Amino acid sequence: MPPGCCATAAAAIASIAPPRISSNRGGSKRSQCNRGGIARAKFALPALPYESSALEPYMSKKTLEVHWGKHQRGYIENLNRQIANTPFEGYLLEDIVKISYNRGSPQPAFNNAAQAWNHDFFFTSLKPGGGKSPTGEIAELIDKQLGSYDNFVKEFKLAAASQFGAGWAWLALKEAKLVVEKTPNAINPLIWDHIPLLVLDVWEHAYYLDFQNNRPDYVSTFLEHLVNWDIVNARLDRAKAFMNWGEPDWDLFDKDADILTYEEAGIDVVEDSS
Ligand code: FE
Repeated sequence: MPPGCCATAAAAIASIAPPRISSNRGGSKRSQCNRGGIARAKFALPALPYESSALEPYMSKKTLEVHWGKHQRGYIENLNRQIANTPFEGYLLEDIVKISYNRGSPQPAFNNAAQAWNHDFFFTSLKPGGGKSPTGEIAELIDKQLGSYDNFVKEFKLAAASQFGAGWAWLALKEAKLVVEKTPNAINPLIWDHIPLLVLDVWEHAYYLDFQNNRPDYVSTFLEHLVNWDIVNARLDRAKAFMNWGEPDWDLFDKDADILTYEEAGIDVVEDSS
């Protein structure tokens, strides 16, 4: 295997990677190669799930090329350098984020790991023809837990607008309850064990080319034209599979079903002869 095989493989995988159905865990993809018999893994820049011009006129091709092709690429390449020959090399990106946060005393890898995760989550939170009112289960949950979609919009706009300087605005689950949150710099809700469902990047590099310093217009455009509610519903489904969502719905169970004997179920029972 020639030197630099990981970088070559990473580029190849990034160029052919299919659009993701869900990327709320794991984030950036890994490529692998073998050096001297030891498996090494590096994170690769995930492909965008749409053409770089597909979000125009609401997010320009130029913005995506710079944001994804330069900023996101930079976080991933810096992370790969930081974790080379450390135990983090074998970890999932989400685990590196949580562990390197180190209970509020972040280790050097935290910023690049979290930014790599946040940006993958952000780019997959967008879709051409997105935005407007949500559909499906997330729409019902927003009405039930946040009052109404209009109230969600009000809370989300406030979070995004009031985040001082660089950061992120989120819709997340906190113990099965929807919450709107904001985080500074690279911080994300994973560090509190919340489950992110939707994010907006409010770093200036995300909107300056299209909106200059007009963050409120950028936030409104995101909500009205870009939010991928399909993936939010998919993330909600996934979250429910991994968390305690409350009492089971006993109506789903057939209480009158016969209980099979081992014999009826075709299970051989070996008598204990001791
Ligand atoms: Fe960004």
